[in-house]
Formats: sequence, structure tokens, C-alpha cells
Amino acid sequence: MSLEHDKVWSNCLKLIKDNVNPQSFKTWFEPIKSIKVEDKVLTIQVPSQFFYEWLEEHYVTLLKKALEKELGPGSKLEYNIIVDNSANSNTRAYTINVPTRNTPYNNKNEVGAPLNVNANIHNPFIIPGLKKLNIDSQLNRNYTFDNFIEGDCNRLPRSAGFAVANKPGGTAFNPLMIFGGVGLGKTHLVHAIGNRIKEVSPNKSVLYVSSEKFVNQYVDSCKNGNNNDFLNFYQLLDVLIVDDVQFFAKKEKTQEIFFQIFNHLHQNNKQIIITSDRAPRDLKDLDERLLSRFKWGLSADLQTPDLETRINILEYKMYQDGIQLNSEIIEYLAHNIDSNIRELEGALISLLAQASLNRKDIDLELAKKMIKNFVKNASREISIEYIQKLVSDYYSLTVDQLKSKTRKREIVQARQISMYFAKQLTKAPLKKIGMHFGGRDHSTVIHACQTVNDLIDTDKKFRGDVEEISKRIKINTY
Ligand code: ADP
Ligand code: MG
Repeated sequence: MSLEHDKVWSNCLKLIKDNVNPQSFKTWFEPIKSIKVEDKVLTIQVPSQFFYEWLEEHYVTLLKKALEKELGPGSKLEYNIIVDNSANSNTRAYTINVPTRNTPYNNKNEVGAPLNVNANIHNPFIIPGLKKLNIDSQLNRNYTFDNFIEGDCNRLPRSAGFAVANKPGGTAFNPLMIFGGVGLGKTHLVHAIGNRIKEVSPNKSVLYVSSEKFVNQYVDSCKNGNNNDFLNFYQLLDVLIVDDVQFFAKKEKTQEIFFQIFNHLHQNNKQIIITSDRAPRDLKDLDERLLSRFKWGLSADLQTPDLETRINILEYKMYQDGIQLNSEIIEYLAHNIDSNIRELEGALISLLAQASLNRKDIDLELAKKMIKNFVKNASREISIEYIQKLVSDYYSLTVDQLKSKTRKREIVQARQISMYFAKQLTKAPLKKIGMHFGGRDHSTVIHACQTVNDLIDTDKKFRGDVEEISKRIKINTY
């Protein structure tokens, strides 16, 4: 007999799949395993505490609907959570009984999560009468959540950051580690978290510090013989934000003191937020003990922004500065500068500067000229999104249509041509190309390329189209 719970869950998944976007489905539902079903209670296993919280926060209604459809009214969901307790690194599962009611889930201790169970540890360093730290947080007020544009590239770290900001030390995301390449918004996001904490809980002592500054302070304190004060100060914080911890690499003494501070804060349910330009596993030359602690909470990465987010960011920045540019120029910028957000801002600023210096209106010509200088050194790569945009424009379709499931002939053909160019002109592997087209698999891409090659050989009109599109892609790129 095929397992009852598998059947129930796979039916639930069908309904869920129709109601969430493919990316979310892949991220949040594919990793779930069903465990058992008993008396209208389905037990599923999720990979982490965070997962569970996310599901409860974002999908509780949908889960309830799906479950009731399968098991009838009054059915319940139970979660098995795999807890990575790095200290003894065994994973163990424990069960939380969660009725799929639409109650906001907000108290972990109630359900017995084995996190932050530590009560008040007496701090021998606290000097009586000096319990409240009155410090300058070193936060940049200009970096807020309001002006941190949300997109697929940053949804996870942004919402985890927001959760932390509203309840520092009181979520499973401790430490919260945000990583990603340069210019993708790490510093902005952690300041936003800090600012939000000061807004919600003005009495909390929050400190933002770059790793470099931390190292220098520590070295100075050793020179001056007051490194105890240094330690003492940091241990009194409620929220410690350390930016760019990759800078600690090879600095063993600093790592050691940071390790002590980390442990102290963590034990006392104080929030720690760190950023790094790479994933924890790639942080070479960092003490294993420190690394394993970084993994206790949540590591979330900021990815390179997709086209839509880039356009949104540009539009937002223009709106803030009270400038208007026509959409053709914005799209041009967004298409051509796709590596990071700092560059995107830089391009916009230099475009404005050029225009005002030369007293010229900003038109596409100027934008093209400027971009050429701006990205001269960067090797230009054509992106899949860019190809999709040009091909869909050519056939008067939308990019969404290209990605859709539809089997209409002219859309299928445009989709295949886009895949063909993506294969020819980008370095993306087949799998990634497929992902860009609504999550199709690599064999679909191979098939598309074969079909296009065949048609080029046999269909004159088709060949003309392909040549024209190829020309457009190249003109607009170089
Ligand atoms: P990192 O610390 O990762 O190198 P920054 O936080 O310094 O990157 O971000 C670079 C620039 O891009 C900053 O000016 C920041 O305000 C901007 N930026 C990054 N992400 C976003 C976003 N999602 N929305 C708006 N601006 C952003
Ligand atoms: Mg930074």
C-alpha cells in the first residue's frame, strides 16, 4: 500500500503548488517530508526552526486549506523540526504540536524550542550602577527598511532581519548572518535592522561596528593595557552588529576575544548580527569554534538583484532625488549594469552629473555613452533576462508569457529562440537557463536549441527573425 501520509501530503502539495510561485514552492515546500498521518493529524518534517517559523508566518492559511481539503475539518498539522545543535552536532527532531489555526506564532518557548534557554547568568564584570549603556550606536540613519527595496534577491535576509529587529534576541535567528558580494546591500540592511531596533526598543543598547574598527580598538586596548574594559564594554550590549567579519581572518587574538564576547551575549539572549562577503563555509582562516557558532542561527545571502529589482531600485532612487528619466533609459541602465547595486547607483549619479555639467538633456544616447565609460573595464556579459526582454519585445509578448506554461505556437517559438540565445550568448549552464524560463529542466533547453537550429536550416522566415534578433541583442550590448 502506498503510504497514506505520502498520499495526503502530495495532494496537499498539488493545491499549494497552484497557489505559490515556483521559486517559493521549491524553497519552502519541496524540502518538506511527510512522516505520518493519524487521527486527522499530519506530521511533516522541516529542515529547521526557521523553516517552521517561515511556513507558519507566510503559509499557514494555505496549509490549513490544503489539509482540510484532504482530511476534513478539524485536521491538524504537526511539525518535526530537525535541530542542528552544533555543540554536539547531532541532529535531533522534536515535535511541535501546531494546530493549523490562523494564530500568529510568536512564542517559541511555549513550544519548547531548545534555544536560548539560558536564564540570567551573573556577569562578574558589571559594575553596580553602570548597568545601562549609553552609547552612540554608530548607525547611519539613512539606511532604513523603507528604502531597502525588496526583491527576490533579498527577500529572505530582509524578512529575517525585520523579524530580528522587532524582537532582538528573541527569535531563532541568533546570530543572524548576512552574506553576499560587494555592493549588494549588507551594510544597508544591518543598519536598517539597527535603526529599527532603536525605533521599537529605544532603551536597547545597539552598536554597529566594522570588523576593521573592532580589530583596531582591540589592538589599541591591548597596547594601553585596558583590554578588560574593551571586553566589558562589548559584553554589556543588547545588540552587536559586526560588519564584514571576513576581515577577522588570520587575526587569532581578535577572534579569541570576539569569541568570548559572542558567547557572553548569546548566553544572555542578546542579539548578534554579522555580515560577511562570503558564506560561512568559505570563511577560511577563521577559528572552527567561531564558525560553528555563526551557524547556530540563520545565515541568509543577498543575491545579485534581478532585472525587476534593479528597475525598482533605480526608480526609487530617482523618486527620492526628484529626478525623472524616461523608462527607456531606466531599462537601459538596469539591463546593462547587473552586477551590484552600488554600481547601479554610481551609474545613475554619473549620468546626472554628466547631464548637468554638459547642460544636456539625458537621452538614451548620453546614457549609452556614459555606460560605455562606466563599465569599460568590466567584461560585459549578456544576461538571460536581457535576451528574454529583447525577444519578447520583438514578438510583442511579455516576458511572463515567455516563462509561462502556455503551449501556444508563437509563444513556444519565442521561448525556444530565447533559450537558444541564452545558450549561445551566456555562460549559464542549461539548468540555470531552464530555471529562468519558469523552472523548466535542462532537457527542454536542449530540445529548444535543436529545434531552433533545425528551423534555421529549413525555414527562411524563421532564419530572418533569428538574424534580426541577434543583431538587436548585439547592437544594444556593445
Ligand atoms: P555591501 O555592504 O553589501 O557592500 P551596501 O550595503 O554598501 O553593500 O550597498 C551598496 C549601495 O546599494 C548602498 O548605497 C545601498 O543603499 C544600496 N542598496 C543595496 N541594496 C539595496 C536595496 N535593496 N534597495 C535600495 N538600495 C540598496
Ligand atoms: Mg558593506
